[in-house]
Amino acid sequence: MRYDVDLFVIGGGSGGVRAARIAATHGAKVMLAEEYRMGGTCVIRGCVPKKLMVYASQYHEHFEDAAGFGWTVGPVRFDWPAFIAAKDREIARLEAAYAGNLDRAGVETVAQRAVVTGPNSVQLADGRTVTAGRILIATGARPSTDETLPGRDLAISSNEVFHLAEQPKRIVIAGGGYIAVEFAGVFAGLGSEVTLVYRGPKILRGFDEDVRDHLMAEYAKKGIRLVMNETFTGIEQGAGGLTVRFRNGHAPVEADQVLMAIGRRPNTAGLGLETAGVALGVNGEVIVDAASGTNAPTIFAVGDVTDRVSLTPVAIREGHAFADTVYGGKAWQADHGLIPTAVFSEPEIGTVGLSEQEAVAAGGAVDIYRAVFRPMKHTLSGRDTRMLMKLVVDGTTDRVLGVHLCGPDAGEMIQLAGIAVKMKATKADFDATMAVHPTAAEELVTMRTPSLRHPAA
Ligand code: FAD
Ligand code: NDP
Repeated sequence: MRYDVDLFVIGGGSGGVRAARIAATHGAKVMLAEEYRMGGTCVIRGCVPKKLMVYASQYHEHFEDAAGFGWTVGPVRFDWPAFIAAKDREIARLEAAYAGNLDRAGVETVAQRAVVTGPNSVQLADGRTVTAGRILIATGARPSTDETLPGRDLAISSNEVFHLAEQPKRIVIAGGGYIAVEFAGVFAGLGSEVTLVYRGPKILRGFDEDVRDHLMAEYAKKGIRLVMNETFTGIEQGAGGLTVRFRNGHAPVEADQVLMAIGRRPNTAGLGLETAGVALGVNGEVIVDAASGTNAPTIFAVGDVTDRVSLTPVAIREGHAFADTVYGGKAWQADHGLIPTAVFSEPEIGTVGLSEQEAVAAGGAVDIYRAVFRPMKHTLSGRDTRMLMKLVVDGTTDRVLGVHLCGPDAGEMIQLAGIAVKMKATKADFDATMAVHPTAAEELVTMRTPSLRHPAA
């Protein structure tokens, strides 16, 4: 049977765009549907606008720190609408670049919603049916909401935070993961009064304990109010703004905005996957094998919708591997091991590999190398901030199992440290590498004595 296209991609985000472009380059006839804006979460309302906001928020401290180096900085003020407009222009430029790349690769794009109507058919919002040899689900995820919370509609999610008409003077943020932590840093840097509310005892569950403690201490120094072991009972609109009430005894807090950052759910509702018998997991994620195949032989899925590792480079690699394997005659699979990642908090976190706790739980002997110091810049700026650098090393083989950083440029550093860890570098390899002086990163190759030794269990 002849199909209208070889591949129909649903979703124009990181994973879908890469898969469509590579498949078309291999000669496949490809159509891609995007219901919102080309580029997806990362480009339109995720990584990119977020990082621009992080940059905007850092100037506050740069101006303050300049005094220690002899500069006199006049009165400064932040113009929220001017920044938002500049950020929007950049996002529009990137969106057009994504569309242009698809066009040049020969992918036909349709700016509408698509749903699956069978193993080889898709229906567009305008009613058109398109048949396809294969369908790739790359629909991403959306912010989770707490359906039981009274006043939940008064809160915003990360979707809206990029488009507020005014900078909130006071913001309450719910959650202790990447998004909550990053926006707490952004708004504090911009001068807003920030309250971060997390249901557990410590933010960033799953990260190395030293990193969690370190960032919490740094956030407290910046005046971010950290309310732990607490959840909301409701949000109310009052004359002075919003009032957030709590379950475990904290006094109500007033705010101009409440940001819910309590995780994301795969975008599979109403997608018609049941018509093709595609199996979903408990969170609605598409269940896939290592080659991103579902239980339906003609349907594949990549990126956040599969709820594997929800990061842009991962979605891109999964999409690329799928396209090369199916249309390029070159079979390979995305490797989900030892993924370096950064949290763009202020200061940043960079991490790869096992935390101290995970390494110890694995049962072998573990050596910990740890340094906490004042970054050189802040000797003159006088800012009270510290940098954390930590290596988790296998006490038997000397292999570096994890690197955990919290401080300036940690995101940049972890990309490179990630190569060494992926190549199975040992502590001796780190030590044999000449230091770059004067940098903070040189600490990674000059920590000679373990600060702690965990014997084998
Ligand atoms: P998406 O990029 O979400 O793309 C899915 C697309 O499908 C969307 O454009 C959607 O409109 C479209 N769609 C959905 N359903 C349909 C349908 N039925 N028909 C047509 N179109 C449809 N990751 C990082 O690596 N680094 C970061 O710094 C980072 N920061 C982030 C900050 C925020 C605030 C958020 C929310 C996420 C961040 N992420 C970051 C995660 C990253 O954005 C995602 O992992 C990545 O975008 C996933 O790509 P994807 O292709 O799976 O999905
Ligand atoms: P995360 O999964 O990182 O964090 C969700 C947070 O919300 C956790 O602290 C979780 O608590 C808490 N939570 C979950 N449910 C509830 C609830 N019902 N009530 C109160 N709190 C709740 O999700 P995010 O939304 O922050 O980000 C989604 C994903 O996007 C990230 O995991 C990451 O993969 C990606 N991302 C990556 C970034 C980067 O690379 N820099 C930046 C932003 C996003 P608990 O831990 O106790 O479960």
